[in-house]
Amino acid sequence: MSTVTKDLYELGETPPLGHIPPRMHAMTVRQANFGEPKSAFTREVVPTPEIGPREVLVYVMAAGINYNNVWAALGVPVDVIKARAAQGDETGFHIGGSDASGIVYAAGAEVTNVKVGDEVVIHCGSWDPEAADVKASGDPMFAPSFKIWGYETNWGSFAQFTKAWAHQCMPKAPHLTWEEAAAPTLVGSTAYRMLTNWKPHNVRPNDIVLVWGGAGGLGTMAIQLTRAMGGIPVAVVSSDAKGEYVKRLGAQGYLNRKDYDHWGMLPHWTDDAKFAEWTKGARAFGKALWEAIGERRNPRIVFEHPGEDTIPTSIFVVDNGGMVVICAGTSGYNATVDLRYLWMRQKRLQGSHFANDDQAYAFNQLVIEGKIDPCLSRTFTFDEIGDCHQLMYEGKNPDGNMAALVGAPRTGMKDVP
Ligand code: NAP
Repeated sequence: MSTVTKDLYELGETPPLGHIPPRMHAMTVRQANFGEPKSAFTREVVPTPEIGPREVLVYVMAAGINYNNVWAALGVPVDVIKARAAQGDETGFHIGGSDASGIVYAAGAEVTNVKVGDEVVIHCGSWDPEAADVKASGDPMFAPSFKIWGYETNWGSFAQFTKAWAHQCMPKAPHLTWEEAAAPTLVGSTAYRMLTNWKPHNVRPNDIVLVWGGAGGLGTMAIQLTRAMGGIPVAVVSSDAKGEYVKRLGAQGYLNRKDYDHWGMLPHWTDDAKFAEWTKGARAFGKALWEAIGERRNPRIVFEHPGEDTIPTSIFVVDNGGMVVICAGTSGYNATVDLRYLWMRQKRLQGSHFANDDQAYAFNQLVIEGKIDPCLSRTFTFDEIGDCHQLMYEGKNPDGNMAALVGAPRTGMKDVP
């Protein structure tokens, strides 16, 4: 840690505890650079943000990488800069980053849960606990003012300092490195809500849970959480190597989606030939699912996020009275549902989005207790933030989660061999 106070510190040169330089290095996205992540992110020096009475300023040690900033870089489906400009943000840039580990450097006058010097991770649920809609909501995730920090809000973790509400701060697991600690919170808390919030469809012992993208960020967390809750996870992946990875993580078995071709929107129900072809594909998938499980039982919960490509199959294979719970539409948003299955077999299609404080804290506690591995597969440098998002954009990201070093020293970086 430096003892010298300066206007601007180099990356990795830690300012004295509690000293806030007026300027900082940040990885920004500007509208003129919207497009593929490798060129959308650029490094610049920007003013360090100011905080309000219920907010904190955290010196970022490492930042977790998530799919949302692929969308931010592309400028679709939402131009986050335009959306914020309409609400008065005059910066003209987006500092993304929805996962962080770091040290609290400043805390607003009303903050009681953390103090300067605390080592924390930050969950990405951004809301003012005193806002009227949050107080009226019962669950802040339903409040209109809720935002994803570092995606819908500016000043995320791709910078030396990040601004967050104090309630977003949680203790950093002492046994994890900065980069490991930065990796799992967004995906893990999201998976935690999906698997626990939508009662009676919370995971019960012996329930089968089908997890799409089992080797990805969400999937690795869903597999571990299902096991921790006594359920039986079965994963879908796109290669046998990923299949072996998910089995090591705790999946009972796996299906390789490349073995099937019935993906995408359902053919129209009046087109008998095409519908029969689709049904054949879905039935073959269902049969392989029983083989992967080792018994003829259907999943009580299907953990969804690919969306358009996979929803028809998810609705088909989920058990009678079961739930397909979805938090994204990576492959598209026009999910088609054969309503006959939905009503005759009383299946449920449930949307879910991030997590509230209780859920994020409960997930973090499992990390602290060593029950969840953050599944960090690769650590990048600050200047490689565009590159790791590019890997994600191209579907070439390594299994599990990625992180980038911000203030943390460049030692012990974990790389895929
Ligand atoms: P990720 O690490 O890239 O994993 C996604 C996995 O989905 C991929 O590894 C891939 O696995 C699988 N996949 C991709 N396209 C598919 C397709 N057409 N059909 C079937 N599987 C497909 O990403 P992630 O972090 O898990 O996030 C996944 C999505 O959820 C993103 O769109 C992200 O923005 C969203 N998300 C939403 C929330 C929320 O709160 N709403 C929170 C976290 C993430 P295989 O190739 O091995 O099958």
